[in-house]
Amino acid sequence: MASYIKITDLKCGQAPIDLNDKIVRRTRFPPLILNGHWLKDGNATLFNDGKKAIIFLNGDRIPSTISGGPFINNVYEFHDAHFHWGEDDCRGAEHTINGTWYSMECHLVHWNQKYLTFEECLKHRDGLCVLTYLFLVQSGSNQWNNVKFERISENLKYIQNAGSETNIPANSLSWMRVATDCPSYYIYQGSHSGDFNLECATWIVFPVIIPIQSCQLNEFRKLKDKNGEFIKLNWRNVQPLRGQQVFLAVS
Ligand SMILES: [Zn+2]
Repeated sequence: MASYIKITDLKCGQAPIDLNDKIVRRTRFPPLILNGHWLKDGNATLFNDGKKAIIFLNGDRIPSTISGGPFINNVYEFHDAHFHWGEDDCRGAEHTINGTWYSMECHLVHWNQKYLTFEECLKHRDGLCVLTYLFLVQSGSNQWNNVKFERISENLKYIQNAGSETNIPANSLSWMRVATDCPSYYIYQGSHSGDFNLECATWIVFPVIIPIQSCQLNEFRKLKDKNGEFIKLNWRNVQPLRGQQVFLAVS
């Protein structure tokens, strides 16, 4: 039986980082197994917390989970999906790949079921798993129209004020499927982007870039913070590596 690298043996550091060919090691990992993220069952809520747009899955649906991949004997359960954007389409994503900037980034935060609560997960280096998707605006071409993403972008106008929320279709995360089907993904140990940037997260970044229209991205910039000001940007700069290893999983 093949032996795979154990996540808990890896050195932690901060997130986000530049995923650079100079430091990335190609390594075999089992395929990731995602379950339930784009089901039509139950409900989904889109919420403006004054800093970002967040999606919660709720109602009568099975928990959406990740297993397989680098997570030996661990199952991670969906907590929220949220977005990071910038003042213009050139830069809004947090991670870069070989120094390249992208327009927007989505984080799907999952917590390790073995720790029973989200708060407990923050104390452990294998507490969270963040699935990360990079978006890029491709101007001047209709072929880049991301129809599935309209389930989110068309509803942002209802949550422009901080603290407001609206119901969106239960399968609003189905746009992630095309990138998730890619057998390769980056892995490293980094921080959860909360108040204390605790180093408790395994980051999985998909290298398949998702197209988005400029007008869809612009709806995010119309959201307001608690002072009624537009949330122009909410991304964090890439952080220096502190001995973390970065892998590109190949099946
Ligand atoms: Zn985030």
